[in-house]
Amino acid sequence: MADDANTNEGAKAVEGAPPPRPVRGPQPLPPSAQPQDHYDAIKAKFAEARDLRLGYRPQGTAQFTSELTGELSRYAVNPHTEVAPPREPIRDHVECLFIGGGFSALLTAARLRERGVESIRIVERGSDVGGTWYWNRYPGAACDVPAADYLPLLDEMGYLPARFYAPGPEIFAHCQAIARRYDLYDLAVFHTTITSTIWDDQAQVWRLGTDRGDELTARFVICANGTLSKPKLSKIAGMETFAGHAFHSSRWDFGYTGDDLSNLSDKVVGIIGTGASAVQIIPRLAKAAKHLYVFQRTPSAIDIRNDRPTDPEWAARQQPGWQQARRDKHLRGRPLTEEQKAELAALTREEKIRRQENGNIDNMMRIHRRIDEIVQDPATAEALKPWYMYMCKRPCFDDEYLPAYNRPNVTLVDTHGEGITEITAQGPVFEGQTYPLDLLIYATGFEVQKTGIYNRIVGQGGVDLNQRYDEVGIRTLLGVHSHGFPNLFIMGGYQASFQFNLTFMLQTQGDHIAECIKLAREKGAATIDVKADTEEWWVQEVISHRGKTSRNADCTPGYYNFEGEFNRRQDGNYNGGFQQYFTHMSAVRSDLEAHFDFR
Ligand code: NDP
Repeated sequence: MADDANTNEGAKAVEGAPPPRPVRGPQPLPPSAQPQDHYDAIKAKFAEARDLRLGYRPQGTAQFTSELTGELSRYAVNPHTEVAPPREPIRDHVECLFIGGGFSALLTAARLRERGVESIRIVERGSDVGGTWYWNRYPGAACDVPAADYLPLLDEMGYLPARFYAPGPEIFAHCQAIARRYDLYDLAVFHTTITSTIWDDQAQVWRLGTDRGDELTARFVICANGTLSKPKLSKIAGMETFAGHAFHSSRWDFGYTGDDLSNLSDKVVGIIGTGASAVQIIPRLAKAAKHLYVFQRTPSAIDIRNDRPTDPEWAARQQPGWQQARRDKHLRGRPLTEEQKAELAALTREEKIRRQENGNIDNMMRIHRRIDEIVQDPATAEALKPWYMYMCKRPCFDDEYLPAYNRPNVTLVDTHGEGITEITAQGPVFEGQTYPLDLLIYATGFEVQKTGIYNRIVGQGGVDLNQRYDEVGIRTLLGVHSHGFPNLFIMGGYQASFQFNLTFMLQTQGDHIAECIKLAREKGAATIDVKADTEEWWVQEVISHRGKTSRNADCTPGYYNFEGEFNRRQDGNYNGGFQQYFTHMSAVRSDLEAHFDFR
């Protein structure tokens, strides 16, 4: 078997296996299979579906709220723990403080430990580490990236995932194991939200306030608050009047549903949203609920999952350092043959774009055909078809989602792009019909990549980070450093590269941050701050790649393209590619003096 048996590529020989993931770097572009008219007609349909949705929600990102206070405060309650235990406010100093205890913090802290840093504190809202995997415990929660790639530090932890895809509880347990292995529980503070992070120029420390009255100081602060961590709700008229039980997908109330969902056998349940979270939840709800209504605004693209146990032969072959070697290989990408290179060179830019688009459309039509094969009711099958380019929305991989619609107790309420706009005490309303529910689940997503979420960050000269970003746009180096905010590092924020495997990205940033901190320590410098001209160079680099993504204004609205408000020149991810991001990061680190002020 190929060395890469634990990738989807290795699974190609298996009948029904998913197609390979997108590969980095230049791709062979086979000629289009159909006449151009065919593709043009589908593109026109994509544009129509996008325009329809944009017409329904001109308010863009403002259609959502993540301010879950007042009448909406029930959606912010942590169902995973008892009320926070009382404690005295903490007043002390640490060298490195992490805001948030998910993978960003764990991976960077592990690298800091390897470099001899002892004083490390995680401050976390939840009652444990794990971030996404602490909060998202809904039935079916799992990661769509192969576990051997997604689960980080597998070499260091001496761990091999049990299956091709890791379920949520395994990932959460892995987070806890990392925290134990690197002694990160010792100074950790849970049930605590950082509310202010203010630079003290005289003492050259960050002063942090919390919702528990703490007065913390730290030399280095790492914003590790996650890319999708604050639940958001669609603002729907009357939503606060709903009299049944309700929660957000990331705040699953097992007290209500029962651990095995058995309490739902006599309940009518509704779910708003059909994104990646809902796609995993719906098959489980379908089996458990008396009746399930799925309120759909835009369908997801559902591909084959084909989960399977880890191949023991492959596992036995892995030598120490295997995961790093695998990542290095991914980073290099699959090289083109000489023939493929020559073919590509002969194509004009327009021809390359056309072939790329046509290949994407072929893939979407394959996904459409699969729906027709699986879903029995033709009208439901039609409504489940996504009309947009692949990668305009996060692709999903699930083998139980589509069959769920063949059950007699499941009804798809397709809102034809409009969405639910009204909820009464009984339940959601669409086209004049009220759907009375016992339980309503909002699978409506999260606030996206916001630095300093829950937290006001004030740097040198009293400059408020988010106010500055609002006024002049996001300004960073590599998405990590911001001028005038010394010793502050941002993880998972904008202006960094997009990576389908988020932990790969976070590990890359974590390695970089740990190295910067190590070098500042070795120099005996109190502070490290990116130079203004280096920051400006990166902002321009981000702008120069702005249009180069499939997640652009042509796409149907969603959080990938700011709900269609794609006009914020530098306020997004770096689209130059992960390889190039990584190369820039290495170059910056090889000449820190040129890019940073050390004082
Ligand atoms: P998303 O933001 O992706 O999805 C929100 C859903 O709610 C969309 O389907 C949206 O429709 C819908 N919606 C919003 N308002 C309304 C309304 N008024 N009426 C009807 N529908 C509405 O959130 P998710 O939590 O699903 O996923 C967030 C991200 O988390 C994913 O993109 C992925 O990165 C990650 N994730 C990864 C998983 C994995 O590895 N498998 C699993 C789960 C999440 P519309 O599309 O029209 O906006």
